[in-house]
Amino acid sequence: MSRPSPGTPATPEPAAAPGPGAVHDVIAVGCGPFNLGLAALASTVDGLDLVVLEETAELHWHRGMMFDEASMQVNFLADLVTLVAPTHSLSFLAYLHDRDRLYPFTVRENFFPSRVEYEDYLRWAAARLPSVRFSHRVIAVRRDPASGLFTAEVERADGARLRLAARHLVVGTGTAPHLPDALATLPADRLLHTADFLHRGEDVDAASHVTVVGSGQSGAEVVIDLLERNLAGGPAVSWLSRTPSFAPLDYTKLVLEMTTPEYMHYFHGLPEATRDRLLAEQWQLYKGVSTDTLAAVHELLYRRQLRHGLRPVELRPGITVLTAGPAGGAGGTVLRCRHRDTGRTFDHRTDLVVAATGYRARTPGFLAALDPLIRRDAAGRPVVRADHSVDLDLHAGAGSATGGGRLFLAGTELHSHGASAPNLDIGAIRNAAILNAVTGREVYRLPKATAFTAFGPPPATDTAPVDGRHHGG
Ligand SMILES: Cc1cc2nc3c(=O)[nH]c(=O)nc-3n(C[C@H](O)[C@H](O)[C@H](O)COP(=O)(O)OP(=O)(O)OC[C@H]3O[C@@H](n4cnc5c(N)ncnc54)[C@H](O)[C@@H]3O)c2cc1C
Repeated sequence: MSRPSPGTPATPEPAAAPGPGAVHDVIAVGCGPFNLGLAALASTVDGLDLVVLEETAELHWHRGMMFDEASMQVNFLADLVTLVAPTHSLSFLAYLHDRDRLYPFTVRENFFPSRVEYEDYLRWAAARLPSVRFSHRVIAVRRDPASGLFTAEVERADGARLRLAARHLVVGTGTAPHLPDALATLPADRLLHTADFLHRGEDVDAASHVTVVGSGQSGAEVVIDLLERNLAGGPAVSWLSRTPSFAPLDYTKLVLEMTTPEYMHYFHGLPEATRDRLLAEQWQLYKGVSTDTLAAVHELLYRRQLRHGLRPVELRPGITVLTAGPAGGAGGTVLRCRHRDTGRTFDHRTDLVVAATGYRARTPGFLAALDPLIRRDAAGRPVVRADHSVDLDLHAGAGSATGGGRLFLAGTELHSHGASAPNLDIGAIRNAAILNAVTGREVYRLPKATAFTAFGPPPATDTAPVDGRHHGG
């Protein structure tokens, strides 16, 4: 291909059709931790041809939230492979060994790597996996009804277009930053999502008053950064939360068993309405703040008491932001808010709003052509089987549970598999289940006993119902 001269728009080459024999077993779209882990586990399965397509030029992991001191919320055993393949050459321990950092790690006696270290591990693993192709953006996926193959149309960073075919597709493109309607109307220079926080440092420094809306882990980490800036003479800080308190994540031992594969299996077998109810009830598994982070916030507030002349700081739970818009006169932004307990409404003035309002599952646009094949639940979400494959409409010739190609979701199947679906510690388990499904054999043994708690009722017996006479004894 001849290079376009500067200023000449590049005309993408027409997509090259897959040549004979160019059918992969699996195309995995997106190279976050989940599909990278899939590539790692697949790399030791003989005869399996898997390719991972990633649109960025290199691996990045949540760079907008890459605070130096931020720690992982899962320990090092929840790496790409260990929970199903502890002797795998791409484990976190193998990485430490390769980098000659194993000894300092053991002396450190802290099982939780920093986020910076985890990203470095991911990049180390990606560099050892030839199946990962960076600068490859998937723009459309179709399914040939005759062959049952998936075809991915791909745009490379150099403008070239390719078409790749595979029997199975794994979508691991992550979740999307969510902006609630009340904030979404704010102009871009007055609003940022936590996902972009460190990319917008100049806007933060230029503001006199920054308001964080939302009290999950990301919100709390941003508040820590803002409190540190405030101590150094930086902007005033407000932290508003709809929840009645700045609540902790519940990581106590028996509650953590509800993030195990065993609970995931139990959850998947429940009716849709029960699953939805449980997800709402289990918000402290994924919506609160770690107790260490809350302690760090308190410590910074405590230190502030001895300092004078700093701009003010306020923490206010139980606040719903109703609308947001530009403030008249002196500029800035005004948030119309309601106080939960008293019902009183009030205006909150600020310069910059940080939406710490989380992430949502999205159906990527490149799946549009498959939409008619995807069976959906009552709420319109894809029906996902226990092995994480989407239930495709067989009448549209989409393949069967044992035969034709399957479409897997990696990390966005919260509604079907529960709160732990986006957790890194479930990644290796899900990837092993996917590889077992696509190969039709047990290439990785899945752990069976992962919790002490029994989640369902005891097995049915034929004893008569207990009556009043038995109760007193
Ligand atoms: C700040 C932060 C910290 C977190 N920390 C933890 C933690 O400690 N423990 C835990 O269990 N969970 C954590 N999570 C939750 C979760 O595990 C991570 O979000 C994780 O990155 C999800 O991995 P993923 O592979 O699904 O997606 P992502 O990491 O989001 O990667 C998706 C990839 O897909 C690519 N992509 C998108 N569209 C296309 C396309 N069309 N073509 C090609 N490529 C495409 C993107 O460029 C991206 O690289 C954290 C989340 C956040 C936001």
